Amino acid sequence: MIDEDVIILGCGPCGMSVALELKKYQINPLIIEKGNVVNTIHSYPTHQTFFSSSEKLEIGDVPFISTRHKPVRNEALAYYREVAKRNNLRINAFETVTEATKENNEFIVETTNQFGKTIKYKTKHLIIATGYHDQPNYLNIPGSELPHVNHYFKEAHPYYNQKVVVIGGRNSAIDTALELYHAHAKVTLLYRGPDYSKSIKPWILPEFASLVKHNKVKARFNAEVIEIDQDKISYVIDNEVMHEPADFVFAMTGYHPQIEFLQSLNIIVDLHTGRPKYNEDTYETNIKNLYVAGVVISGFDGNETFIENGRYHGKHIAKNIHANEEIEG
Ligand code: FAD
Ligand code: NAP
Repeated sequence: MIDEDVIILGCGPCGMSVALELKKYQINPLIIEKGNVVNTIHSYPTHQTFFSSSEKLEIGDVPFISTRHKPVRNEALAYYREVAKRNNLRINAFETVTEATKENNEFIVETTNQFGKTIKYKTKHLIIATGYHDQPNYLNIPGSELPHVNHYFKEAHPYYNQKVVVIGGRNSAIDTALELYHAHAKVTLLYRGPDYSKSIKPWILPEFASLVKHNKVKARFNAEVIEIDQDKISYVIDNEVMHEPADFVFAMTGYHPQIEFLQSLNIIVDLHTGRPKYNEDTYETNIKNLYVAGVVISGFDGNETFIENGRYHGKHIAKNIHANEEIEG
């Protein structure tokens, strides 16, 4: 059993930020990450441009300089790698956390590494910063598990001249539909909302709306998708069943945190919102010395916490852990 003082689960920007803030108090935590540094950003679409300007993505007071107004994925990967290196962050990469329990006053964390080996740790403080990106909101309709149905979009090239249906109506759906259109895919967007979502970034919407207006991209609103077949997708608008040919489907329906994992540690989770119970000043959950950081705090609302604001959780957590250590001597 490996003994640690503080373990952070997840090496996203918010988990990294907790580590950097702890280091300011001479606490050197271990981060356990199932992929490598900022695994979620690595899984973004290859050509993703951030909606945040680079200074709003900075962590640990390390400047993120970009020559563009909004940085792209590859620049962010380089930035966060460099932050990890320069600060000598302790990261156990390619180790997946499979279980965590609290025994007496310590947490026992069990992981599996990339070779299938089980590793056990004990730690006094545990921070959960595992994000939500690995759990897509599945459609749970007939055919939604077919192999041509995807919840992640990487690049448009393979879909040249293909009939592609995009489901959803916020930023990922619109970005995906636009990139597909530019690669000459035949794109249809099916959105359950009555009109364009207010969440769509204002600089993205005009181009998309114009393509729809000029029949370059088809968009159907109030569309409830009910079934996916190998070559078509069925949906209902105003009680009328309609069909759309589809060679590929991108269900950009958002993501949610690992609720069961939080509950397995006896964290109270509001099952309506998916939010864990935590103290808003310290980010400590209802379990002593167990913290949540980053987008995992937002439950089912993935538009409330992002890097811009989640990067500040670390300051509060580090301050609280340091204060408790001082009191306990
Ligand atoms: P994550 O970055 O998701 O990190 C969680 C980490 O935990 C991951 O590395 C994951 O591999 C790891 N993990 C999960 N489970 C386990 C496990 N069991 N064991 C070990 N490790 C585990 N936000 C902005 O502020 N600005 C933007 O411009 C922006 N653009 C975006 C563009 C796209 C396409 C998307 C999808 C999101 C964007 N976001 C943006 C949102 C942003 O990516 C997230 O809010 C952010 O990644 C949350 O950080 P986090 O550290 O909480 O979680
Ligand atoms: P999201 O904001 O959660 O949007 C999910 C979409 O899918 C919504 O339109 C939702 O409808 C719809 N939906 C959810 N469940 C559905 C179901 N069962 N059936 C049909 N439709 C369903 O997810 P996202 O767009 O992937 O964004 C996730 C995060 O990444 C956000 O923080 C976002 O800002 C960020 N992001 C940023 C960029 C960028 O920086 N350029 C690009 C993409 C994403 P409703 O609208 O009715 O809820």
